[in-house]
Amino acid sequence: MKTTVVGSYPKPKWLLRIVKMYKDGEVDEEFLEEAYRDSVKSVVKDHEIAGVDIIWDGEMRREEMTSYFAERIEGFEIYGEVRVWGNAYYPKPSIVGELRYRDELALKDFLYLKGITDREIKVPITGAYTIVDWSFNEYYKTKEDAVYSLAEVLNREFRELVKVGAKYIQIDEPAIPTHPDEIEIAKNAVEIMVKGVNAYVGIHMCYGNYRAIFPDVLDFKVDQIDFEFANRKFEDLKILKEYDYDKDLGFGCIDVHSRRIESVDEVKNAIRMALEIVDPDRLYVDPDCGMKLLPRDVAFEKLKVMVKAVEELKEELDI
Ligand SMILES: [Zn+2]
Repeated sequence: MKTTVVGSYPKPKWLLRIVKMYKDGEVDEEFLEEAYRDSVKSVVKDHEIAGVDIIWDGEMRREEMTSYFAERIEGFEIYGEVRVWGNAYYPKPSIVGELRYRDELALKDFLYLKGITDREIKVPITGAYTIVDWSFNEYYKTKEDAVYSLAEVLNREFRELVKVGAKYIQIDEPAIPTHPDEIEIAKNAVEIMVKGVNAYVGIHMCYGNYRAIFPDVLDFKVDQIDFEFANRKFEDLKILKEYDYDKDLGFGCIDVHSRRIESVDEVKNAIRMALEIVDPDRLYVDPDCGMKLLPRDVAFEKLKVMVKAVEELKEELDI
């Protein structure tokens, strides 16, 4: 029973200011780079103090999870911002040519993190299905073709990551549960992404209707599936019970949409429910999703509660 995080963590306020200064031409790239590195160090320190077993760098360089990768892959173009979810805008990428590997996506971040922590590291990268679903397709005949093509690009990145020592990869696919009708495409894409990747692979899915992707999701070629449970009051654990869940479980048990800090007992009770489904060695306890929208002190407190709950339970269960 290990603790981990899903990916993002609140950015220090000074980093946001420095990114803006960089965009306005007030500081140079070297200045920005130093700020990124210092912010990663502060995230790592928070995670280490909280006692999280498997960490990531808090995604200090990522402003969102689609165009960040699209900008680094050949075949994408980003025209400008489009309106999504009411008044939120985001730079939606367009596929305008054959998708090909151009630049590393998380390799440098992984190597930097590896150099500053002894903790185990998990590398999260947005999956092929979600990136294509959240992009315009102006090149491929079908969405399916685009997804498989991107899956090959990501496969190369995963293999490169393994070569330099990555042992744990997380494919972020929040779009999958929102399109259960396309689950076959998503499943095939995962197979392409993990081909020849000698690492422990998890897939993170938040939002959407989990029931609609069962039992198909159990055939995905991954070691672990990570779901959000806290925000849904742990109701979805019933689905896992119904279908004899047999993979490792990433157990989202901290609500990232609420500033209320859970109590240790509350989290322990939730973990006990998860232990009715998987054995402790197949359970990875984490927050529901990335924590970037929370105030930093709240995120930190929530991580501490989560780790304390796991420690106390381990003691009680003598594991
Ligand atoms: Zn998520």
